[in-house]
Amino acid sequence: MGAVGWCKKIGKMENLLQRFCTHITLAKVICLALLFSPLWGLWWFHIDHEVNWVLQLMIGYPSISIRAGVVYISVCLLAFLGFVIVTFIRASVVRVPLMFIMLIGWAFELTILDLNGTLSDRDLFWILWQERTMASEAVSGYGQNIIRNCASVLILGIVLCAPPVRRFSVSGIFGLLPIASGALVAGVIMYTKGGTQHFPIPFGTFSNAVTVLASALNDPRDVVIDHDVKIKGRVNPIFDKIIVIMDESVRGDYLTLNDPTRNTTPFLKATSHLINFGVASSGSNCSFISRTIFRFGMRQSDLPNGWREGLNRPTFWEFAHKAGYKTVHIDAWRGFGSGISLAERTLVDSIINVNKPVGYLRDQLLADKLLHALKEEGPAFIYVDKFGVHFPYSDKYPPDFHTLPTPLSDTVSSVVTDDIYAGERELAQYSNAVAWSVDEFFRNWLAAVDLHKTLIVYTSDHGQSLLPGRFPHCSTTPTVPLAEADVPLFAITSEPDFEQRLEQGAARGFGQFSHFEVFPTLLLALGYDAGWVKGTYGPSLMDSPSPDKKFMIGSPDFQTRMIPWRAPASSKSNLRE
Ligand SMILES: [Zn+2]
Repeated sequence: MGAVGWCKKIGKMENLLQRFCTHITLAKVICLALLFSPLWGLWWFHIDHEVNWVLQLMIGYPSISIRAGVVYISVCLLAFLGFVIVTFIRASVVRVPLMFIMLIGWAFELTILDLNGTLSDRDLFWILWQERTMASEAVSGYGQNIIRNCASVLILGIVLCAPPVRRFSVSGIFGLLPIASGALVAGVIMYTKGGTQHFPIPFGTFSNAVTVLASALNDPRDVVIDHDVKIKGRVNPIFDKIIVIMDESVRGDYLTLNDPTRNTTPFLKATSHLINFGVASSGSNCSFISRTIFRFGMRQSDLPNGWREGLNRPTFWEFAHKAGYKTVHIDAWRGFGSGISLAERTLVDSIINVNKPVGYLRDQLLADKLLHALKEEGPAFIYVDKFGVHFPYSDKYPPDFHTLPTPLSDTVSSVVTDDIYAGERELAQYSNAVAWSVDEFFRNWLAAVDLHKTLIVYTSDHGQSLLPGRFPHCSTTPTVPLAEADVPLFAITSEPDFEQRLEQGAARGFGQFSHFEVFPTLLLALGYDAGWVKGTYGPSLMDSPSPDKKFMIGSPDFQTRMIPWRAPASSKSNLRE
């Protein structure tokens, strides 16, 4: 190309640049509108309509209190202005860094909106913080969402960061506006102790993240470990070994035991001395809360307000000790996912960490460790935090394991698209993952156990929503999919008396049990006085379950609620309604 050609090209470019500059104000306004458009459910976003948004709150607050209304509306308008003004600041040293930081907040919020149908709040940050060790598992499955939202924000960001035309610009001093807004928003969140936490993006995002992180880091979560465990009656241990298996993300109705049309767990189906309690409710739809409720024997009637006091209760480790058992913890989550604090760890005689870089091999190794632990002489209480089938599902079984038909392509991002076929593909992978993670796991070690002297209790920390484009669990939205609390629950033993009493309980309350009945059952197995157990910890799996089942959602430190649970209409179907 000749010099003339180059000049023509540069000339054209300049022309284009000039036109871009004259239209930059319009472009910026359009980009701002595009940035806010997802909040109205445009593009690929679905909005949870039961959530209160800034606009609704601005209308709602004044009717509660004029003062609160005035403060809230002023802060929100200021924050909105504080964001919008930045793109029109002349000085690029002020405009670009401020815009950059705020767009990070936007990219985060749009990703959350994409996945959850809501914007972030303190609950969500708390849960992200508690589940952080499992985050790497989840992030890989959300890649497509993260990319499409970040890319959109990036493209809009280029225009928003571009220099404004002089006529429609303001001086660098206006950079103080978003900074002041951020401080005001943080002030309101702290003053209302988190009662008000929805603000224009990205001000609520950063303030909520900072306040949650600060409280999480300052929370020693001291577990009282020098309990004088007060009991009544004599302790007559029944079993030599008690094995409690807490699986991860296994939904109750995906086991053949609870739905004969699914061929996921034929081995368990054929296992004798297995007492199935049907699909049960977990204590919570989120790992950390559910597992904590389980270990501390918290009662449904104490929750959610009694969470703090619940952490002062003796754990099952202490009861096992007092009954003369050695306590063993076999953990596929390296001590983090289970949420066991350092103080609580001192209650465990033997901690066995199971770690393998390849996830789907972890539970197989865990089975070896379990068999090894069982060989030791003397009574032992063994609690197993299993690796299970945490989302994404396609890497939770070996590539050549296809007990159930799985689709040709194993792209893990399929669950996050709205394509029905893709959703079905992910569901097929989930079934196959359950077949490997649950059935093959039991097949590896169960035959070697002396069931006459052993009690096995199996459940999962929570279920799965299995809804395309939604969080698989830990939802904090007002309409929580109840399937997030649907878990399997069964026991295996051939100790005649205990087996018979469990069978009677299962016959009476099949499909109506929950995690809350497991702790008292374990106390009975450890040999504690039945009357005292029932009076202190409520009905066990041998009793009729109470009809009003509830599970806890949200963070205990911020906003938490109990959600009424009912069993799937028929455990033969995965549809509740
Ligand atoms: Zn979990």
